[in-house]
Amino acid sequence: NKFLNPKTLSKAYDFALRAHKTQKRDEGVPYIIHPVAVADILTDLKLDSATIATGLLHDTIEDTHATYNTIKEEFGQEVADLVDGVTKISEFENQAVDNSKAENFRKLIIATSKDIRVLLVKIADRLHNMRTIKFVKDTDKQIRKAKETMEIYAPLTDRMGMNRIRDELEDISFKVLNPEARELITKRLKVKKEDRKETVKEISREFINVLKENGINVKITGREKTPFSIWRKIQKKRTSLEQISDIVGFRVIVNSIGECYKTLGIFHSRWQAIPGRFKDYISTPKINNYKSIHTSIIGPKRQRIEIQIRTSEMDELAEYGI
Ligand code: MN
Repeated sequence: NKFLNPKTLSKAYDFALRAHKTQKRDEGVPYIIHPVAVADILTDLKLDSATIATGLLHDTIEDTHATYNTIKEEFGQEVADLVDGVTKISEFENQAVDNSKAENFRKLIIATSKDIRVLLVKIADRLHNMRTIKFVKDTDKQIRKAKETMEIYAPLTDRMGMNRIRDELEDISFKVLNPEARELITKRLKVKKEDRKETVKEISREFINVLKENGINVKITGREKTPFSIWRKIQKKRTSLEQISDIVGFRVIVNSIGECYKTLGIFHSRWQAIPGRFKDYISTPKINNYKSIHTSIIGPKRQRIEIQIRTSEMDELAEYGI
C-alpha cells in the first residue's frame, strides 16, 4: 500500500502504548489490543496512514492525558483533527443513553464528520467493540450498545455500501438482542448445511458449463446468508423459517457489463424466472452506488435460487464500500 508510512504508524503505536499503559479492556487484556485491532480493520479497508494512525490514537484524548495539542505537535494537524472528530462522537455517544435520541445522534455524526475518515474510524471502533461485547459484564450496557449499533451504525455502513461490515454488525447485535431467535435459525441452518453444500456444488457446476457453452467464463460463489438476514426476511415477507432457509444464493462474477446482461439472458431463457424478483441495479444503482443484477429462478433441481450477477469491480465495491 503506497499510502502507508511505517514511521508514522510505529510512532502512533508507541504513543498509544504509552498512553494506555495502565488500562485494561473488559476482556482482561491490555488496552492497546483495542486500538491495534481498530487499526487492523482500517488497514483491511485499504485506508491511508493518517486514518490508520487515528485508529491507533482514537481513544487517547478521551481516556488518557493526551491532548489535541500534543497529538498535533507529534502527528500534525490532519491526524489531530481526525482524532478530535472521533473523540467528539464518542463523548456524545456516552451522553445519549436514551434511544429516542437515535435520530439526533445520527445527525450529529454526519455533521461532525466533514471528513468521512472520522466515520470510518468510528465504524472500525464499533466493530471491534461489538466483536468483544460478550466480555462486557453489564447486560444493560450490552443491550444498549447492540440497539445503538442496529439503529445507527448498521444503517450508516449500509449507506456507505460496506456490506461485509454491516452484516457482521447486524448479526452480533441480533445475537445480543434476540439470542433465542438466532439460536433457532443457526440450528436450522446447521441441519441443512451438508445437503446444501452438495446442492451448491452441483448447481455451480451446471451454471459454469452452460455459460461456458455460450462463451462466458465466470466465477461462482455460493452465498451464506447470516442468521439476521434470514430473520429480517421472515419478518418482512411474513413467511416461514422453513421456506427461507431452503433458498440457495449464488453470486456470478463476470468480466464486463455486457456479459452481465448476456448471463441474465441465458439464465432466463434456460430456467423459469420467479416473477417480481428481477432487479437491475446496474442501470439503476442503489443510493450507495451498489451495482448488480438480481434475479430468482426455479433452478436445475427445481429449487428456488437467488442469483446476483456482477463484475469483479462491482463485487469489490459491494463488499467493502467506499
Ligand atoms: Mn475505542
